[in-house]
Amino acid sequence: MYAEVIVDVAHSDVDKIFDYACGSLAAGMRVVVPFGNGVTTGFVMRVKETSDLPAERVKKVIRAADEIPALTEENLSIARKIAARYRVPLAAALRLFLPAEMRTGKVSESYRTVAVFAGEADVSRAPRQSELLSFLREKKEADAAALRERFGAAAVKSLAEKGAIRLERRRSFRDPYRGQSETQGEHPLTAAQKRAVEYIENTQKTVTLVFGVTGSGKTEVYLHLIAKALARGQTAIFLVPEISLTPQMLMQLRARFGRAAAILHSGLSAGERFDEWQRLRAGDARIAIGARSAVFAPVENVGIIVIDEEHDGSYSSESAPRYHTFDVARLRAQYNGCKLVLGSATPAVETYRRAAEGEFGLVTMPDRINARPLPAVSIVDMRREVRRGNATAFSSVLREKLARCLSEHNQAILFLNRRGYSQTVICQSCGYVAKCENCDVALTYHSDEDCLKCHYCGARYKMPAACPQCGDRRIRYVGTGTQRVAAELKKLYPAARVLRMDVDTTSGKEGHFRILQQFARREADILVGTQMVAKGHDFPQVTLVGVLDADMSLHFPDYRSGERTFQLITQVAGRSGRAQAAGEVVLQTYDPENYILRFAARYDYEGFYEHEISMRAATGFPPFARIVRVMASGDDERETAYAIKEVHERLRRIYDADPQKFLFFRQMRSPIGRIRNKYRFQVLMRLLDPSLLKEVYAACDVKYKNVLVYVEENPANLN
Ligand code: ADP
Ligand code: ZN
Repeated sequence: MYAEVIVDVAHSDVDKIFDYACGSLAAGMRVVVPFGNGVTTGFVMRVKETSDLPAERVKKVIRAADEIPALTEENLSIARKIAARYRVPLAAALRLFLPAEMRTGKVSESYRTVAVFAGEADVSRAPRQSELLSFLREKKEADAAALRERFGAAAVKSLAEKGAIRLERRRSFRDPYRGQSETQGEHPLTAAQKRAVEYIENTQKTVTLVFGVTGSGKTEVYLHLIAKALARGQTAIFLVPEISLTPQMLMQLRARFGRAAAILHSGLSAGERFDEWQRLRAGDARIAIGARSAVFAPVENVGIIVIDEEHDGSYSSESAPRYHTFDVARLRAQYNGCKLVLGSATPAVETYRRAAEGEFGLVTMPDRINARPLPAVSIVDMRREVRRGNATAFSSVLREKLARCLSEHNQAILFLNRRGYSQTVICQSCGYVAKCENCDVALTYHSDEDCLKCHYCGARYKMPAACPQCGDRRIRYVGTGTQRVAAELKKLYPAARVLRMDVDTTSGKEGHFRILQQFARREADILVGTQMVAKGHDFPQVTLVGVLDADMSLHFPDYRSGERTFQLITQVAGRSGRAQAAGEVVLQTYDPENYILRFAARYDYEGFYEHEISMRAATGFPPFARIVRVMASGDDERETAYAIKEVHERLRRIYDADPQKFLFFRQMRSPIGRIRNKYRFQVLMRLLDPSLLKEVYAACDVKYKNVLVYVEENPANLN
């Protein structure tokens, strides 16, 4: 027999199939093979009877690294498509399907020993053995370590020697959520939910968009579809932007599906992740739940795939291979012949267009469960507040509503786009801005540690007492941050209990989880936070949401900043008034006439969409053109600039052949010219004809010793 093997050599360009002679192997197994002067691991892509290579040139597989193939036939097929689609080596695409722990071999399976009752023995002169034996006689089996602790190691050993107990080694799985569970009944579906489930099951289309306002019960629709897939004997993949941000969702899933669900997320230890993967691969768990990378979960016979909050930026990978989760999910749905459900209250403009034009199915859920009203939104003009001499982060309207919310013993969420005590440190005399030494970005002041931090590389600096440029002592922080807001709240409402949630307070495995649980248990009255508080939380007691700087995200130099702002505001507003009490939302802005804010305040997604899509058509942005960025990044500025110049020359030939297919074509320094000491240059293009991508990728397929060149399509961030 011969195996076609892709060798898994990191940082290598070897992307060729090699034939190796082998015994009985199966496709998808990992093998150890001789390669060059050493050995390496590889993936068996196919097993065949004959090889075209002359027998003397065929080397032998040294051994198989798996007992059962780590990858399924489906995985191999999808990996081939990913490799072709994103022009990455096949080995890189295959690696996506394996948790890092599997490849490095640093984590191993964990086992425990179980003592099983095997028969009677003479224990008349050994009271502890006698106790142990009667215990096991009743229990039949128990964990050996626990028995040793309770009855003594000697008793266990003697009984094993006498043949009264048998010690068995068993595979044990680490359970990341031991002891955390909540019983929660299934709801009978509302008419709207029923309609959604039926539509998805009966449509001929693979992809359906569930466009439902916040609180319309989309989650229940997904859970029903998943339960039905399980009942058919199939498996499910449920993707969420960041599960550790939504403990309630996690609890709900555990309560509903128990250990049938494997939850993969960044907060797990390597061992836990490894075990969850193994449980899925072995079929012990049949629902894979997790962020982006769970789209590669090792489940077979997939019956449904759900992408919740499909508009979320975290679904596109920012490191190679730069895949979009949707593309992979659709490939898997097509292969398995199952449905792919995208859910959102604020779909990406591109997604909504594909649904509106009939490429995707579309289900709308315009009402909240039990016809609860969406919270009323007031827009507050902060320019007037400033004119009236209000220098705090809170308008008078917000203060009034906060006071009432607190006196009624309800909870409030205050949202702002920035973090840190204040944002940037600026010299009031010469205009000097404190910047990171490794990255071309401004630093952020953090009052709790009295230092400046770079949010790109994590470097810390001392807060200067005087301006390093002109020596003036009037060097200040400008802007607001979660810390300052929390401090102001303490002064305004001394009795209120305030929780802060941002990247600084949520480090560690359980950071978010702990804060959200505290808030859910009503151990705080006000939650102040950044983007993280906008996600899909369901806190019934929240009746007021304040957006302190609603227009902040409008000013990012990105064609999607309007869309992002609309999404953020809608999401965070959706946290208010989810239970009996009606909710309210206050949007503070310096730009009260802004159309994005106006549409958001009316919950008018369609209005926003019509406006946005016509603007994108007029200006030639996605979905009417594809943004393609070719990045060159390297340690040496001149080498990197030289590389981009060469690549630009090559791309220029494609451009010159057909300039009308380009809306934009320019070489430039990247907006952030340096991150982590890597210089960044780019060629930015807007392509009217995506079929040119093949040529673009080919033109960028050049290797430099010290410069990395790569292509990004519609990147989630254009820094
Ligand atoms: P969405 O995901 O659309 O924001 P959720 O699924 O979180 O909405 O549902 C909002 C609330 O309504 C939740 O508290 C949920 O438990 C409740 N809910 C969902 N479906 C039903 C139903 N059929 N009957 C009663 N309550 C429901
Ligand atoms: Zn930095």
